[in-house]
This record gives sequence, C-alpha cells and structure tokens, in this order.
Amino acid sequence: MKICFATSECVPFVKTGGLGDVSGALPRFIGGLGHEVKVFLPLYSTIDREDHHLSFDKKLSGLSVELDGRPEEFSVWLGKLPDSDVDTLFIHSHTYFDRPHIYTDDDDEDERYLLFQLAIFRVLEEMKWIPDVIHANDWPTALLPVLLRLRYRLRAFSKTASVLTIHNIGYQGTFDRSTISKINLPGKRTTRSGPFEHYGRFSFLKAGICFADVVSTVSPTYAAEIQTSEFGRGLEDAIRTRGDRVQGVLNGIDDSTWNPASDSLIPYPYDAESLNVKSENKRALLERFQLPTDDDLPLLGIISRLTDQKGFNLLEPILESILREGDMRFVVLGSGDKHLQNVFRSAAHEFPDQIGVHIGYDESLSHLIEAGADIFLMPSLYEPCGLNQMYSLNYGTIPVVRRTGGLADTVVDLDEDPANANGFIFDRAEPTELERALHRAISRYDDRFLWRLLQKRGMASDFSWTTSAASYLSLYREAVVVSEMQ
Ligand code: ADP
Repeated sequence: MKICFATSECVPFVKTGGLGDVSGALPRFIGGLGHEVKVFLPLYSTIDREDHHLSFDKKLSGLSVELDGRPEEFSVWLGKLPDSDVDTLFIHSHTYFDRPHIYTDDDDEDERYLLFQLAIFRVLEEMKWIPDVIHANDWPTALLPVLLRLRYRLRAFSKTASVLTIHNIGYQGTFDRSTISKINLPGKRTTRSGPFEHYGRFSFLKAGICFADVVSTVSPTYAAEIQTSEFGRGLEDAIRTRGDRVQGVLNGIDDSTWNPASDSLIPYPYDAESLNVKSENKRALLERFQLPTDDDLPLLGIISRLTDQKGFNLLEPILESILREGDMRFVVLGSGDKHLQNVFRSAAHEFPDQIGVHIGYDESLSHLIEAGADIFLMPSLYEPCGLNQMYSLNYGTIPVVRRTGGLADTVVDLDEDPANANGFIFDRAEPTELERALHRAISRYDDRFLWRLLQKRGMASDFSWTTSAASYLSLYREAVVVSEMQ
C-alpha cells in the first residue's frame, strides 16, 4: 500500500508528546512490512536542517496554495526517518513556521495548519504520488479527510481513503467559525451542530471525525471512553455517530531504547532470567536520591508530567500518612504544576529518608527509575494510551494504575485475575481507593515467589511496534473498503 502519514510532530525532528513518538516509529514499521510510506511534517524553525541532513527540493519549490483568497507560497525539504528508507517531506513557509514554538496562541494558528494541509495535497498532486490512504493525526491534520472527501476525491484522489487517529481528545483545534471559509470547500454544509460547527465555533478535530473513513485512537478503552460525556470533551456525540468505526490500537514501545537487557542508561542491565540484578539498580537509585539502602522496603517510582490529567491530586491527601507509616519509599521525577512540585518537595523536606524528589526532565534518570523501582505509580484520571506502564512491565517493575484508557488495556489486577495478573488496579478516582491499591501492592511485596511471577509475566508482554503496525494496516484496508462504499 501507499500511505501518506501526516503529522505535526515526529521524533527525532520535533516532539512535545506521545504523537511525536508514534510518528517516529509507526511509519518505520509500516515501511518495514513492505509498504511505501511518506511522512509529511511542517519545517518548524526548531528543526535543524543540517543536523538532520535535510535537502531542499528544487523540483517542488515555488509551489503555492490558495488560503483565505490569496496565494501562499511554500517550499519542500526532504529527509528520511532515521534507520529507515521512509521519505519525510518537510513543508516550509517562512510566514507560518519560522516561530519560536511549535504550537502557538497566535491569531493565525488556524492558518498555519490550513497551509500545511493544503500544501500536502498540492505536493502529492505535483509528485503524482496518489496514496491508497492518508493517515491524519490529531487536530493539526484533521482536515485532510474533509479536503479529501469534499474536494480532492473529485480529482486524482478518487480511490484514496482516510484514517484519523486521535492521540488526545483534549486538543481539538477550536477557532472562530470564519476559519472554515479560509479554504474553499465545495459542498460544505454549514448547518448548526453539523461537522463545521462546534458550540458556535469551528473545530478541526470535529470536522475530521465526521469525514474520515475510519477514526481510531490509541487504546481500545479510550475508544469507548471518548464516546461518553466524562471523557469526550464535548465531542462524544460526534464520536458516537461514527459508532463502531472508532477503533483503538495500542501504541507500541521502542524496544531498542526501553529494554532492560540492553539499556545503556542503567548501570546493571538484566533480563527475566537475571532479575536478581535488578536490586543492584535499586541500590544505585536509592543512592542517587540519598535514601537509605540498609533495609528492603518496596520502592515506588513516579515519572510524569505533573498535570491534572495524571491524577496526583489523589495522592496528595494521603501522601503524608503513607510516608509516616514508613513501609515504603518513593522516588519522584517530574515537572509541571507548581502546586504539585511543592507538594513533593515539602514531603521530601519532611521525610528525607522516605522520599526523594527530582523536579525537571531527565531522560537517563527515568531509565534508572524504571530499572530500580519495585512498583510504578500511574493514578491517571485519563490516559489515552500511556507509555510508562508498558516500560514498567518490560522492566519487571509492578504497575499500580487507575482503570482508564491504555492503563486498563495493559495492566491486569492480581486479585481480579490471578492467573494473568501483572499489577494492581483501582477504579474510582478517590484517594482512599488509591491508598487501598498501594497497600495491596506493598503487602504482596514480601511474597518473593508471587512477586517474581508478576515480574516475569510483565516482562513477557508484547508491546512491539510490529504488532501495532499490523493493526494499523488492517485499519488502512478497512478505510479503503469504507471509502469505496461512499
Ligand atoms: P504523556 O504523553 O501524557 O506525557 P506517556 O506515559 O504517554 O504520557 O509518555 C510520557 C513520556 O515522557 C514517557 O516516556 C516518560 O518517561 C517521559 N517523561 C515524562 N516526564 C518525564 C521527566 N520529568 N523526565 C524524563 N522523562 C519524562
């Protein structure tokens, strides 16, 4: 198949969150299965053209599109996804992409991504490269399915299908209603509560959800959750009208980076057959945080953005009492919300033998925490997929999570399903529920046989991108069938 993969972030060029990781991995794996993928990405000024060996494409220079009634020029730079043969086409517009930040609050934020999406079609036409599927990701590319259906399917793209993946429904690309009139869409329906109206405004994501041949998200549970008012952020009705065409495909994790047997960022690599070595990493981690090493209390790890989404407001009211009980230790790596940073900092001040805190972003410390902690805590209020619980399972670090999104799809609770368990889950977003789950985990820690079993089961999990890529290929094939029926 030929797949046009459109994204606003892609590792290693530019990343603010999980979308960047998916975009850097999935096209590579689809390409590895013998398909032809081209990735499209804006050329933000933060991307270093020399470092990434990008070259200016003369043949595609001087192209323009019509935006808000005027011609807008852009150029194209070419690169490859590292360790692959996947072409990456960077759309450059001095007007729109030479800014200090990737996403902005500027008045023309809508135009930046309108330009990007119009340019993608213009380039595809110019190259005469007609994809079987256009894969759009999140709001910045969510109008591609709309443009395809209302404009380009009438042209060369009559057999092209579209897939839209929602990585986090919290980001919807909502602008003034005049946004949609900046691109000339034949057959555009402007009825109230139609695809081009969202609470009196216009949302890229809503329009995309209405027009994509297939809509997907990054875990099966999140696919169900976003059809409810609790999680849908006002788009639940739009999602529900797509019914069973909204599918969940779990992200994979990069096994070349997150593998305890070959991880160059941890002092003592280990695998499922040498789990004793994990305790050497624990000692190194405790020393790093200047915590006592002369006993064997279970060590809990946290690595996270400190935001409301991550559920640490559930931990705050119980933190002092569990630290006072003294039957566990904590290491925390994170940054974000000032209040939460202070909560952790003052706990470390008051209980210096119980909790170590590092405020900031530290890639190598995050690996040491995965390798050295016994238990990993993710009490998220919502979690589209989540990566750290999968890293934890790979590292024999037992996850304690709330039952939501991708956490619910990857962690199996010990007391609910002992034969398949790999961790501990709680349901309601309440501090007492979290406390109970933590106590359940801690009380099992001394049962060495059981703990080993849980660790080995987690380490045997398959979170490879190969599996996810195969699921996306099925989605692509389904989209082709759906588009043929239109
Ligand atoms: P989200 O994308 O919502 O932040 P995920 O669990 O999907 O949550 O992915 C977060 C990624 O960012 C993980 O790889 C995690 O290890 C990493 N991360 C988050 N905070 C930090 C930090 N302070 N230092 C190092 N890595 C971090």
